[in-house]
Amino acid sequence: MSSLVLLRRFCSPKVLGSSLSLTASSSIRRSLSTAGDDIDLVVIGSGPGGYVAAIKAAQLGMKTVCVEKDPTLGGTCLNVGCIPSKSLLNNSHFYHMAKDDFANRGIDVGEVKLNLGNMMKQKEDAVKQLTSGIAYLFKNNKVTHMAGFGSVSTPNEVTVTKNDGSVEKVKTKNILIATGSEPVAFPGLEFDEKIIISSTGALSLESVPQRLLVIGAGVIGLELGSVWCRLGSKVTAIEFLGHVGGMGIDMEVSKSIQRILKKQGLEFKLNTKVTSAVKTESGVQVTVESAKGGKEEQLETDVLLVCVGRRPYTSNLGLEEIGIQLDDKKRIPVNSTFQTSVPNIYAIGDCIHGPMLAHKAEDEGIICVENILGGAGHLDYNCVPSVIYTHPEVAWVGKTEEQLKEEGITYKVGKFPFSANSRAKTNADADGFVKILSDKTTDRMLGAHIVGATAGELINETVLALEYGASAEDVARVCHAHPTCAEALREASLMAYCGKAVNF
Ligand SMILES: Cc1cc2nc3c(=O)[nH]c(=O)nc-3n(C[C@H](O)[C@H](O)[C@H](O)COP(=O)(O)OP(=O)(O)OC[C@H]3O[C@@H](n4cnc5c(N)ncnc54)[C@H](O)[C@@H]3O)c2cc1C
Repeated sequence: MSSLVLLRRFCSPKVLGSSLSLTASSSIRRSLSTAGDDIDLVVIGSGPGGYVAAIKAAQLGMKTVCVEKDPTLGGTCLNVGCIPSKSLLNNSHFYHMAKDDFANRGIDVGEVKLNLGNMMKQKEDAVKQLTSGIAYLFKNNKVTHMAGFGSVSTPNEVTVTKNDGSVEKVKTKNILIATGSEPVAFPGLEFDEKIIISSTGALSLESVPQRLLVIGAGVIGLELGSVWCRLGSKVTAIEFLGHVGGMGIDMEVSKSIQRILKKQGLEFKLNTKVTSAVKTESGVQVTVESAKGGKEEQLETDVLLVCVGRRPYTSNLGLEEIGIQLDDKKRIPVNSTFQTSVPNIYAIGDCIHGPMLAHKAEDEGIICVENILGGAGHLDYNCVPSVIYTHPEVAWVGKTEEQLKEEGITYKVGKFPFSANSRAKTNADADGFVKILSDKTTDRMLGAHIVGATAGELINETVLALEYGASAEDVARVCHAHPTCAEALREASLMAYCGKAVNF
């Protein structure tokens, strides 16, 4: 069963052949420490994996508890990830438009000034509304929220250590670990979140640094680098790899977005490694050299943003003690139904294998609880889209050209530039292109790669196409509204199918 079919059930609180015979209306016992095996599921962590799983489980009739150690619900995504970064990306883009672009569009606004405090407040308001929205959803769906650090004491018991040091034990039939991930520091450099910052610090700087050095030009490095570049910092991103955008990006797309971001003012030092960094009186001195080794170079910066990746947050969960061994990257090994080596303990999201993405964690959460109740869903990781929310955005799903070549799959390429798309042209926002890859023999769509202002929205149409096994011709024959950027997607599909686009 595809993940798509399962997702359609999210709003329908039906029990999938549950052997537990649960009803959605059953009330939850509050005396948790003496609850015996009354509780069906304890979810540890309330990020997009955990909170979605907890709500889904409750909708399906399971008595569900969600344990969260942080003061607010929503995990990395809502508090220090997707949501605050998108708020700053959106508003810094408006600032840049007002400052450097409005006049070209016939909008004279006089002097444009940045009010960073208000920009941060708008971000905080968005975070607050969304995190309290989860508290409301928990209440509405009868999920019991327990504040504290959860650990697994036995396969049927979770210990919750509260902030005041008190401990509560919850007996449960099943445990779902959704403890997410945390930023990795540069060796020997602790985050102070003022001068040496992780993504979390970069979302809350109190002033615009004159110089910002970013270690890592992956997705988060490009997004946060863009924010501060637009707000006035001189941003340089140092990347060990020979390309930007991280692993899994199509090389043509990577080159294109690098060129565009360079025009916007971001500097890149690719194939370069940071060998050391020391705090000085005026900021940080960073030593770099070629990735292959060679002559060292010293760089000075006011603020150093370290975006070298995230690691699973799996310490002190008590897993080893009950026989669950972590893998070499500290991830929790699970099978395709998210079951660990202990059958009634499951894990999802950033703390297991696969891309560290909120929508991937959410889908895993839904599939996991449905499977606990007898479902048979799985997640097709090939159909999980990736988006970089720069301007233009970058989005992709399925295989890259490099992967297809490596796998020996013969394919066709259909490309269409936004410079030939009427909506993008009219909006004077026509950087980028759509690239569709389809099987040379069957025309089945294999991958979609988009650089464009609305790439993050457009990609969802191609995810649907991939999930349903559509051909490039199928997408090309679907009527698309005019004038829209989605027409470029149709034209690229047409190019892949028959080598000719209508508007080209
Ligand atoms: C700056 C930034 C931008 C991002 N932007 C995007 C984006 O645009 N799109 C996207 O898809 N992804 C994005 N991500 C990644 C996304 O945030 C994560 O993939 C997602 O949050 C993972 O969800 P999760 O539920 O697995 O874990 P998390 O969201 O990390 O949540 C885990 C929760 O578990 C809690 N917890 C941990 N251990 C315990 C314990 N023992 N007891 C109790 N509670 C515990 C934590 O406090 C946390 O609240 C971004 C990340 C960052 C840092």
